[in-house]
Amino acid sequence: MTPIPDVVELTRALIAMDTINPPGNEHDCCSYLAEILEGGGFDVTVSEFADGRSNLIARIGRQDEDALPICFTGHVDTVPLGNEPWTVDPFGGEIRDGKIYGRGSTDMKAGIAAMAVAAMNKESAALTTSPGVVLIFTGGEETGCDGAKALCNDPELLGYSGAVVVGEPTSNMPLVGHKGALWLHAISRGVTAHGSTPELGVNAVYAACRAVGKVADFGFNVPPHDVIGSPSINVGRIQGGINVNSVPDHAEFDIDIRTIPTQDHKEIRAHLESYLEGDVELQTSVDVDGVISDDAHPWIQDVFDRITPHLGARPDVKTAKYFTDASVLTPAYGNPPTIILGPGDAAMAHKTDEYSEIDKLYKSVEIYETIIDGWCGLE
Ligand SMILES: [Zn+2]
Repeated sequence: MTPIPDVVELTRALIAMDTINPPGNEHDCCSYLAEILEGGGFDVTVSEFADGRSNLIARIGRQDEDALPICFTGHVDTVPLGNEPWTVDPFGGEIRDGKIYGRGSTDMKAGIAAMAVAAMNKESAALTTSPGVVLIFTGGEETGCDGAKALCNDPELLGYSGAVVVGEPTSNMPLVGHKGALWLHAISRGVTAHGSTPELGVNAVYAACRAVGKVADFGFNVPPHDVIGSPSINVGRIQGGINVNSVPDHAEFDIDIRTIPTQDHKEIRAHLESYLEGDVELQTSVDVDGVISDDAHPWIQDVFDRITPHLGARPDVKTAKYFTDASVLTPAYGNPPTIILGPGDAAMAHKTDEYSEIDKLYKSVEIYETIIDGWCGLE
């Protein structure tokens, strides 16, 4: 058995590996974790889904249909650094005032490190005869769950799971789900002409603007969900034309829709298409469903019970604002109860000078361990 790494040092080692997506390059990071987990008695597969891009699947325990393991999952890719200059080295893992700095520290290399260390801290002999644990560390999450989707195309590799914990940043508060995301790319086409003779052209920017104005007034007409709230829509980017003295023949914009479990993404797209009356053509760029677990489920209640002493109070039933790989993994596993729970702080995700708090990181290892104890009957 190789020694179990310290969770802070493991987080720093993961931050040092550039997994900015695009392009991702998650393979080396997955291989590094694979070696550590193999040393901890895990059966590990690093599965490449594109050149230099991998998922890691690590199992310990019975892992069968009659004794479903618990799945802990996270993504090893990060978002780009952004336009603002950083005041720290984004790959340095610098420690200052009880925080670890670096791209991906909060979202979500701290969560990955904590899951790996918590699982390795358990007596591997005891885990071997229990239902067990499956760790799924994906690539390509930030661009729409690409790694998780590739993994779910291989049911044998995916295996079984009876419950899912997603280690995205929640400051160690358990969240019972999140909205779905439907991202649409809207294109308007016109006819170009000299800017002094607009009557000879068809202005694509005008058509795009008409459509954007309508999107701002779009209503979903669905009652809010008790826990997850109402759907939302936002235009996040617009572009059109090439210079001031031409009639633009092309304009495009992107629509970000966040949905609730009672909505159907195909219906929303069809509805929006007819509502925009031919001013734009829509293409789907990301389509991931939401996830919501019944908070009365005995396992969810047990997780809340176990976390209460660590947080000092019983957490309220809440959901995350962002989407996660659970959009893909949870349905692929037959919709087991799922929680989002990780040491990072959601407010720091994707930010310049991103950091993760060390005390929350150590606490998350304890929380993941007690969840494993409960699921695998190790107490
Ligand atoms: Zn994330």
